[in-house]
Amino acid sequence: MLVIGLTGGIGSGKSTVSHILARLGARMVDADIVGHQVYEPGGPAYNDIINTFGREVVGTEGKIDRKRLASIVFSKADSLEKLNDITHPRIRDAIAVILKEWKSEGTEIAVVEAAVLFEAKWTNLVDEIWATLSDESVVLDRLFKAKGMSPEQSRARLRSQIPPEEKAKRSDVVIRNNGGLEELEKQVEDLWRSVNSRLKGSGTFSPNAPS
Ligand code: ATP
Repeated sequence: MLVIGLTGGIGSGKSTVSHILARLGARMVDADIVGHQVYEPGGPAYNDIINTFGREVVGTEGKIDRKRLASIVFSKADSLEKLNDITHPRIRDAIAVILKEWKSEGTEIAVVEAAVLFEAKWTNLVDEIWATLSDESVVLDRLFKAKGMSPEQSRARLRSQIPPEEKAKRSDVVIRNNGGLEELEKQVEDLWRSVNSRLKGSGTFSPNAPS
């Protein structure tokens, strides 16, 4: 089974590319969704989060109140790092379990969508890395239209991650996404064809960026 890690900066088109890949037949796992599961009561990060941040983060039905947790995490130095130290390895383990199962089922291509693939050091979960990359002006425009985020909010989010160009440099394939949806679809379909012919041993792999 080939495991592709799909990453990229905020608003660069990861989810859009994920949808295209799913339509083409890839099996997709979204690290954000797995991330939510580790916080659930009985989930692998639940007790450690309460022990670290206190019972005040527990909301209704014993669930961790993400808003309360966020307000603590973003108000105290080192807290975000502490939270990531708890959650990232657990999310990684949960994704590894899913991938193992898919492999045993004979899945050919699996894609892990993870905005924080590099930040969380999950790169060794995947065989190759694809990154979506868009110009900052395009990202600001998209995030304003899609989420009502101001340019200042978007820039602050961008600055809190590894710079998108750096992610692209560290990836095997770069999906440039500054145009329309049709252009993006064509690019992803071409990549899909190339990855499939590579798997069947009938094609050559020519990544469009150095790893
Ligand atoms: P985030 O990190 O915020 O989750 P993302 O990298 O997953 O973002 P998307 O959600 O795929 O990015 O894209 C952000 C917004 O831009 C969405 O509303 C999406 O529909 C739109 N979008 C992405 N690519 C294109 C494109 N090529 N043409 C038009 N709209 C696009």
